[in-house]
Amino acid sequence: MKRTIKKVAVIGSGIMGSGIACHFANIGIQVLLLDVVPKELSKIEIEKGLSLDHKIVRNRIVNEHLSNALKSNPSPIYSKAFANRITTGNIIDDISKINTCDWIIEVVVEQLVVKKQVFEQIDTFRKLGTLVSSNTSGIPIKFMNEGRSEDFQKHFCGTHFFNPARYLKLFEIIPGPNTSAEVVIFLEEYGSKYLGKSSIITKDTPAFIGNRIGIFGIQSLFHLVEQMGLTIEEVDKLTGPVIGRPKSATFRTVDLVGLDTLVHVANGLYDGCPNDEAHELFKLPSFIKKMIENNWLGSKTNQGFYKKVEKEILSLDLNTFEYRATKKTSFATLELTKSIEKPIDRFIVLINGKDKAGEFYRKNFTAMFSYCANRIPEISEEFYKIDDAMKAGFGWENGPFEIWDAIGVQKGIELMNNEGYSTPNWVSDMLEMGNSNFYTIKEGITYYYDITKKSQTKIPGKDSFIILNNIRESKKVWSNSGAVIHDLGDGILNLEFQSKMNTIGGDVLVGINKAIDLAEREYNGLVIGNQGANFSVGANIGMIFMMAVEQEYDELNLAIKMFQDTMMRVRYSSTPVIVAPHGMTLGGGCEMLLHADKVVAAAESYIGLVEFGVGVIPGGGGSKEMTLRASDLFRKNDVELNVLQEYFLTIAMAKVSTSAYEAFDTGILQKGKDIVVINKDRQIAEAKKQALILAEAGYTQPIQRNDIKVLGKQALGMFLVGTDQMVSGKFISEHDQKIANKLAYVMAGGDLSEPSLVSEQYLLDIEREAFLSLCSERKTLERIQFMLTKGKPLRN
Ligand code: NAD
Repeated sequence: MKRTIKKVAVIGSGIMGSGIACHFANIGIQVLLLDVVPKELSKIEIEKGLSLDHKIVRNRIVNEHLSNALKSNPSPIYSKAFANRITTGNIIDDISKINTCDWIIEVVVEQLVVKKQVFEQIDTFRKLGTLVSSNTSGIPIKFMNEGRSEDFQKHFCGTHFFNPARYLKLFEIIPGPNTSAEVVIFLEEYGSKYLGKSSIITKDTPAFIGNRIGIFGIQSLFHLVEQMGLTIEEVDKLTGPVIGRPKSATFRTVDLVGLDTLVHVANGLYDGCPNDEAHELFKLPSFIKKMIENNWLGSKTNQGFYKKVEKEILSLDLNTFEYRATKKTSFATLELTKSIEKPIDRFIVLINGKDKAGEFYRKNFTAMFSYCANRIPEISEEFYKIDDAMKAGFGWENGPFEIWDAIGVQKGIELMNNEGYSTPNWVSDMLEMGNSNFYTIKEGITYYYDITKKSQTKIPGKDSFIILNNIRESKKVWSNSGAVIHDLGDGILNLEFQSKMNTIGGDVLVGINKAIDLAEREYNGLVIGNQGANFSVGANIGMIFMMAVEQEYDELNLAIKMFQDTMMRVRYSSTPVIVAPHGMTLGGGCEMLLHADKVVAAAESYIGLVEFGVGVIPGGGGSKEMTLRASDLFRKNDVELNVLQEYFLTIAMAKVSTSAYEAFDTGILQKGKDIVVINKDRQIAEAKKQALILAEAGYTQPIQRNDIKVLGKQALGMFLVGTDQMVSGKFISEHDQKIANKLAYVMAGGDLSEPSLVSEQYLLDIEREAFLSLCSERKTLERIQFMLTKGKPLRN
């Protein structure tokens, strides 16, 4: 029978429980969230005369936890409105309601006795066949099973979400001794397809895969710091973005997670892995013990490895154990990698470094290679799962085996032997069998060396993904310095930006036109998508700045016209064009999706028209398009001005959605046309599918619009009065007012004496004129320059 999930119960509403509840609400599931009943009344409850059996009191803990979670930043929920999918209750009065749920997830404190009590209650009330899982970080699943009914055991396993549940992609599924295969297969698919996660089935070994390797990595660094006398700033510099890891690197990450949480898992590994060759490394070094004694746990106690004092960030000196000003660090080896774009290409340079950094990397990577290789098959038969877990759970761009491949397997072994590690047998076998790499790519598909079959085998479960990196060489159709076109198969092309931060300049626009030409002539459709960190941070404002400073207005006019014309081609071509935004999709990037036939957005997309921040209005058809969309919503007897104002404010307030769902509220995405994909890894494949659907339905080139109702002076007057009041009230600056008035002029369709119907080209022309006139303003240039140098907007 097909299993469907309509309602989920989450038991325990702490950090993880509330986060998990919100993430199920994100994907449209009804949630029942339960926690314990308070034992005592709070001061406020006493003042209000409430008693312990009052419902408000009995549900106080769960309600407070959920409300705090919803207020936290970054938000656990895609749109605040989704919170009403969560019903709260308590474990005594409401436990029987779990019989209406399809999946019950236990997320209570990490204590076996408490968890077992909860499972006993669940076993009493759940309906047969319901899934039950635990979010434990490390308690063996086999212990939690004990004493439970046969049906319970068959449907029970571990499902380990990482914190924060919305943002971290790792989802470990840990089958217990009696979990049925159907349940495991179902959860693997559900995690990937519905929850948007990287599902990884693991063995029931201590801390599973992610934390076993992740905590080893951190513990081994703790010891290396002592051994090499490094400072914490140095380690953070060496283990951050330069090697494709988050900005928070090592110590800042520990501060964010909390040293106590980390120590808890490390101690668990020390106790749980007595035969581990790295057993001693899981012992806490003395400086960590001292920090725990001092309660310097990180952000939650306001000090850890770093401490913020007023506006200054201080760092802990591990020798004196005092906080001091953060020191600037530099290493010659890191300088050598500055011109190397991709982290994966930097490793070979890093391990050959002649300075302290080189020595650090050799010690650090060889320890990691050796530990990971020795965990095969103990924690997993397949090494690629370790790479996948580190990427999805710890935000690493590359896993240990990918890094080892990049250095060269043989070279990695030499380095390991030099550091005193022996060669793991299966790696020697692999080389002897003629496999010189852990991974190979054939026809866009990734294969890994399977230690049981002793041959290269396709990584399972990836058929729903298209990985652009894998088809980079084999499927390239065309490229220039800013864009590359690949053949995705089945007659669909993909255009990918290749510029810095995926900014859109002349070469990218040439690429888009080329892709549309090709698709119109020889293919069935086009996807504009990429798998970089962000879809696009917008137009190349450096180029606009140069032209404006040089007062090359004719050239600037042509450049803006080319942008507008290209966006209009995205809309009006004889081939379907799908745009696939993810991450930051700002300014010009946002204008591109406004003109798509369909948007296939990743749920984690932060979309907005932010041009005001650099002193201009959207000039690539964005102001035109928002006017058109408002006009399409005008209904007889409605106050049309109010509708137009909503669209005006989306631009004037530079609203950026905190998820793709929020972009429907700001009028950027359109219900019934655009769609959201929860799992970013599936986005390009889904966009391709949607292009095919449009093509097969008989796509014909749409006809340009000349029926856009603009309100003329009536709207302009209202907007000008509004911006006047905003300046008088000191809510906006005079320059903000100037920009807003220009936008008002465009969105009113100019100062027409009465409402009229106009064409898209009419609006594009006045949009361009307004954009150009703002580019001649000194304060606009100051804004652009500030953005280019400081990376944030200036409000002058
Ligand atoms: P937490 O302390 O924030 O929350 C635990 C919640 O469980 C509390 O609200 C508590 O009142 C509730 N609870 C206790 N006994 C209960 C009972 N009998 N019935 C109902 N509720 C009960 O803890 P957390 O950080 O959310 O961790 C929860 C679980 O998730 C643990 O197993 C932990 O190991 C695991 N985990 C935590 C993280 C993390 O980073 N915090 C990450 C992954 C997994």
